Amino acid sequence: MHEAKHFLFGKTAIVTGAGRGIGRAIARRFAVHGANVIITSRTADQLDETKRLIERGGGGGRVFAQTADVSNAGDVEKLIEDSHAIFERVDVLVNNAGVAPLAMIEEMEPEMFDHILSTNVRTVYLCTRAVWPIMREQGGGAIVNIASLAAFDPFPGFTAYGAAKAFVVAYTKSLAREGQPFGIRVHGVAPGAVETGMLRGAFPTFPSEKALDADDIAAMVEAVLSPAYRHSTGQTVPVMK
Ligand code: NAP
Repeated sequence: MHEAKHFLFGKTAIVTGAGRGIGRAIARRFAVHGANVIITSRTADQLDETKRLIERGGGGGRVFAQTADVSNAGDVEKLIEDSHAIFERVDVLVNNAGVAPLAMIEEMEPEMFDHILSTNVRTVYLCTRAVWPIMREQGGGAIVNIASLAAFDPFPGFTAYGAAKAFVVAYTKSLAREGQPFGIRVHGVAPGAVETGMLRGAFPTFPSEKALDADDIAAMVEAVLSPAYRHSTGQTVPVMK
């Protein structure tokens, strides 16, 4: 019997923050389904490891790894230009890169505040803006923004992080309106606690049985990109255990 190709087969997807954690899981999942993946983060050896895992996992798509600080406009422009030159289209952008240092308000130095906003908010704006004309000209695309349950119910110590992720939720909604005339869908995924270095950095004693796996988030990202969601845009889906 003829088996239909997966909807991600042959698509080109950019995943930011793919050197480890959730971004790595998303990139691996895309690749297994035959997508071409562009992976980026600041740490070259972590990206190399993601690339190696993808190549070992099969799927048949190509993988292109480029280091970039996605809070830097020049790095983002170069990343998108180089990716477009190689693959000639960008079907999917996953804005996943983020940081979540925990700091009560009196310990929150201005530099840390700026870093949290820059990494969780500015990155999403810069990457979206860079892929937008490509998606518009090719007749559509999909953007998935990784928010957090902290956008709705933040812990103490997450003033800046929770508010930054609430920005991502509102931005997802607003951007979706702008994308509708061009066939560009925008989705949000808001994870609860996920077993990654980020979780352990903020909450070393969080019970592991209550934490999601990074691939649980990758599965939800795949779900919102699926044809079942083709008439849905602007919503942020919570993922919790
Ligand atoms: P992680 O393990 O710390 O991974 C974060 C990734 O983002 C790394 O590859 C990191 O690489 C990259 N990154 C950070 N700043 C960057 C920058 N300026 N430019 C490029 N890449 C950058 O974190 P995670 O747990 O996988 O989190 C991924 C996303 O999920 C984040 O947006 C986070 O807020 C969200 N989230 C996580 C949890 C959780 O419990 N883990 C819960 C809710 C939401 P480099 O440092 O090498 O650049």
